[in-house]
Amino acid sequence: MLSSSSSALCDAYDLAMLDLDGVVYVGPDAVPGAAGHLAAARDRGMGVAFITNNASRPPEAVATHLSELDVPATVDDVVTSAQAAAAVLAERLGEGARVVLLGGLGLEMALAERGLQAVGVEDEAEAVVSGYGPDVRWGDIMRAAVRIRDGLWWVASNTDGTIPTPFGVAPGHGVLVDTVRRFSSVEPVVAGKPARPLLDETVRRMGGERPLMVGDRLDTDIAGAHQVGIDSLLVLTGVSGLAELVAARRDERPTYVGLDLRALTEPQPAPEQDGGAWVLGDQRAEVVDGTMRVTGEGEPADWWRVVAAAGWAWLDETGEAADTSGLAVPAAS
Ligand SMILES: [Mg+2]
Repeated sequence: MLSSSSSALCDAYDLAMLDLDGVVYVGPDAVPGAAGHLAAARDRGMGVAFITNNASRPPEAVATHLSELDVPATVDDVVTSAQAAAAVLAERLGEGARVVLLGGLGLEMALAERGLQAVGVEDEAEAVVSGYGPDVRWGDIMRAAVRIRDGLWWVASNTDGTIPTPFGVAPGHGVLVDTVRRFSSVEPVVAGKPARPLLDETVRRMGGERPLMVGDRLDTDIAGAHQVGIDSLLVLTGVSGLAELVAARRDERPTYVGLDLRALTEPQPAPEQDGGAWVLGDQRAEVVDGTMRVTGEGEPADWWRVVAAAGWAWLDETGEAADTSGLAVPAAS
């Protein structure tokens, strides 16, 4: 069920935990309007944290990228899965512990920030930490995999199957995790979304009392919000779209659905049930014989909200996702 918020989200929540790719930027470029919408939310007192599963880029690089897109950001506003992985390691092992590093610069810096000592695959160590790193050698992966199989504790920054690159979508760290997991039969502790540590680390650093997770992916951002028990906003500027939304399981359903970050400065109405249909403003959605029908003219955001509500009700009743292939998604105004 979508929730309603009679006050704007930036007034109802004190911290926006923003996923980056598909929310603030897409690859190198800003999502249109993102800088202005975020500035407006900040002006009204909302704190902002930028969080990313990408473990290879240090927070400095992320903050610089954001500032270039007219989204002012300092190092302290950014939290990465590498930092969350280092927090997991430091909590269990304590300062000074030796950790085999299988990853890039961001992970190395995160270990140092928590007083952990990065060592090579042959060295004495209490754990292995892995994260995306383009220069990680296969020989090192082999050696680390054998040590993990033989019992060395393993923390992975994230399990993303893909990563956007200048040459297109490419295999992400999750592919390496799968390989090592299959070989070793060991499950790593995962730091990034949808696992808890990254979101916990963000709340710990930023101190939000009423945080709101904002993301474009149901299976990482929104599922992660459910894991830590906080509310969430799905924006439609990234990966998850109509097909994913109506097929979302209960633990991947957002609290709110908005077109983009403008939703932060707006109240959030929720659809109401009317017979078998879901209605909001002038928009009305109903699933008939498995097919979603939407009528009415009105706000594009309301179109998405009634479609989500009708789709989830149908899914819960029948176990099947509604067919939305005939629908024309409204253009954002
Ligand atoms: Mg994203």
